[in-house]
Amino acid sequence: MNYFSELGLSQTICEVLEQLGFEKPTPIQEQAIPLLLQHHTTDFIGLAQTGTGKTAAFGLPLIELMNEDQKTTQAIIMSPTRELGQQTAKQIDEFVVRHKKLNVEVVYGGVDITRQIKALKKPTQIVVATPGRLIDLMKRKAISLSDVKYVVLDEADEMLNMGFKEDIDEIISHTQEDRAIWLFSATMPREIRGIIDKYMSNPHEVSVDAGQKSNKDISHEYVVTKSANKLAAVRRFLDIQPDMRGIMFCRTKRETQEIADQFSTWGYGVEALHGDLSQNQRDAVMKRFKSRSMQLLIATDVAARGIDVNDLTHVFHHTLPDQLDSYTHRSGRTGRAGKKGISLAFINPREGRKIKDLERKIKVNFELVEVPNKKQMKYSRLNHWSKLILQTKVAQDVEEIIANLDQDLVNLSQKELLERLITLQLDHLSTDGAGGEPNDLNEETGQAQRNEERNKPSDPNADQRFFINVGEIDGVTKADLIHFVTDVANIDSKKINQVDVKKNCSFFYVDKAEKKGFAEKFDGIMVNERAIRVNEDHDGPPQRRPRKEFNHGGGGASNFGRKRRNDRPKSRSRRR
Ligand code: ADP
Ligand code: MG
Repeated sequence: MNYFSELGLSQTICEVLEQLGFEKPTPIQEQAIPLLLQHHTTDFIGLAQTGTGKTAAFGLPLIELMNEDQKTTQAIIMSPTRELGQQTAKQIDEFVVRHKKLNVEVVYGGVDITRQIKALKKPTQIVVATPGRLIDLMKRKAISLSDVKYVVLDEADEMLNMGFKEDIDEIISHTQEDRAIWLFSATMPREIRGIIDKYMSNPHEVSVDAGQKSNKDISHEYVVTKSANKLAAVRRFLDIQPDMRGIMFCRTKRETQEIADQFSTWGYGVEALHGDLSQNQRDAVMKRFKSRSMQLLIATDVAARGIDVNDLTHVFHHTLPDQLDSYTHRSGRTGRAGKKGISLAFINPREGRKIKDLERKIKVNFELVEVPNKKQMKYSRLNHWSKLILQTKVAQDVEEIIANLDQDLVNLSQKELLERLITLQLDHLSTDGAGGEPNDLNEETGQAQRNEERNKPSDPNADQRFFINVGEIDGVTKADLIHFVTDVANIDSKKINQVDVKKNCSFFYVDKAEKKGFAEKFDGIMVNERAIRVNEDHDGPPQRRPRKEFNHGGGGASNFGRKRRNDRPKSRSRRR
């Protein structure tokens, strides 16, 4: 007997689980599995946070309930995105290894449908699908839902968020009256109640309380910095922790891409993940992230939802989410499998309230940490460098090399040599990444007035500077850019001035008479399958000095950001 067999699962499944390293059921599995096995014709609602093992909670009972000798599709699992669908199918595939006659297939949009049609010709008892593609396949008669006994709505809240309500309606309307609907979700927005009332009768409901099981392995931290200094602050945290691997959440697709572009120009291993990328691009990004060839994935909530990547040391919140629930999902990407993780929010001085709300709602304590200043950065980098030295294996022919060196160097004392080496190294380790970046990036919360200059509407009598995500690497010249911009915006080229073509992006000024609504004219414009983005640039001239090369790999100081006391007096009077 093991834990799983006590839930009513078969010997075969229990053995497979053991091989997969599933020792003990998670709370949602413990509660859902026996219910679903016994009352499988009853509708079911399961609520639990991301990462709590919902796939096995419905996948294992489904496998047990399949009729292996029947070749038709008996269960559909609906999934909001291709990535989640693939992940679910992969997990269920692992569960069915010993059920030779059971087949699982995953279908999703954005790729050639004919291959999927062909795949569905063989007996496929369990189909994982994104809603749109499933409807397509139904219309083409590649799949029939008439024998479907179980419809799983996985990540139901996310499917509704993504506007799949009507597709779900249509799919369910093609199933038999006596099918059961199992709905799994991390949150319970009102729209889900709508689905429940419409399609379910007396469902069983299991909910694993989020407050109760808040993850002890995650420490929640925040820094307070001006919005204009946020990226500089993020960069210091990346620098000081070259070993970190994490996700940074941003609010919009556009912001996500821009931030990723900016960090790439600075030379960091980052990439963006958001809904404007094609499916293939998203797959490639996830593959690189999983293979650890990037330090930071910069993502929107939707794109990163439910993605199962372990070993993340950090979750950054470039902006806090509007919905507090999302905070839990985001931070739940770290602190997995018993490892410690840090969830770090970058807030501006007006957002102190949000931290308090989160503390109340999800019952965790946030710790205020300090953005390291330039001196701390310097020491952290030197520390990292000294660790590298200590770890270095001495080359074999080093004796011979020394013998041939300038004797003046060889005769230096250890102290003299060290002093010189450090001084040289300091030149490499410039801590002033972008010209003129303030030494201290920390702010206090609760100072709305301090942000006036940033938030005041731009002067209506001045020309406006704009950013565009096209640059040298796209092969554009100043003239091309002016031509393109005036063409799309339908304005005279005299209205565009001071065009500045950078490596990855460009800047230009638009005459005051034309600046209103200018950026919006580029919405939806594509060039070579790439979405063009234009927006107002309020940060003044771009940082001109490129970051000096800094070794992001290996070793590294682990204690960044002195912790600040949460009750630090507000009157620490700097610039006031
Ligand atoms: P959710 O759907 O709730 O976000 P998943 O089903 O994707 O969570 O599971 C998250 C991860 O935890 C997966 O890698 C899965 O294989 C693993 N997992 C799930 N249940 C268990 C368990 N009982 N023991 C060990 N690992 C588990
Ligand atoms: Mg899931």
